[in-house]
Amino acid sequence: MKTRHVVLNVLSIAFYVFLTTSKLVGQNNDTLNLAKESQHFKFYSTNSDIKVLDSLAITLENNYSGITNHLGIQIDKKIKVKVYPNMQAFHAAINLPDAPDWFVGGTLSTEEIVMVSPLHPGSVHTYASLMQVIVHEFTHIAIYYARGDKGVTGLPRWLNEGYAQYEAGQINARIRKNVELSVLAKSAPTWTQLNTVSDMEFGSMNGYGLSVTIVEFLIVTYGIDKLVLLIKEPANFEIIYGLSEYTLEKQWAQYLKHEKIE
Ligand SMILES: [Zn+2]
Repeated sequence: MKTRHVVLNVLSIAFYVFLTTSKLVGQNNDTLNLAKESQHFKFYSTNSDIKVLDSLAITLENNYSGITNHLGIQIDKKIKVKVYPNMQAFHAAINLPDAPDWFVGGTLSTEEIVMVSPLHPGSVHTYASLMQVIVHEFTHIAIYYARGDKGVTGLPRWLNEGYAQYEAGQINARIRKNVELSVLAKSAPTWTQLNTVSDMEFGSMNGYGLSVTIVEFLIVTYGIDKLVLLIKEPANFEIIYGLSEYTLEKQWAQYLKHEKIE
């Protein structure tokens, strides 16, 4: 969908701190302060966004145990959530000042979610869709925990993005239909292609929509336990499913077309 996560390396995080600090000097109204704590999260925002933090906290906490139980993890610290007052401030903070309006949320390391305020969602997103974005970004953090020291190295992008969208409820009939039509027209990229294109190409080839239908197909057909095994050890694809990735890709097309899976 129209969201994207970004993992910045240590150097970028340092730069990020420097960047926000320098930008916000003299703009005290925009300073992000610790404004709310819930059971598993700490929220930072400007004064004008404090009123949205209750909704963000309820949304995250309502989804927290489901996601961590699915992945079989415990997170031993509170995750920071930084809510920037508008698109310009958010894009400046992540050092992507020219980013498009669909770029509304991300993760910084395994401890921090950054996002634009749902009160100023920009031209692409809405208040409601940003309530899904925050769950999407938390799911990325939970995936990192589930994979231990491996990070996202070797994790297929369709699996990482598809599972984050699945947990966030970012799938609907329109998305399924678009993907079905592209499969029928044989214009859909292969699962392998989804992993090898650039971030921008991934977005423009409907990579988010394709990915969430792949994950939904795997969960509906084979259960979430196998999907979680796959997230932890993607190289064991054939061992986990007892089928080749090629065969599963064929089954996914049948699933989309509502055909009997063979
Ligand atoms: Zn994502």
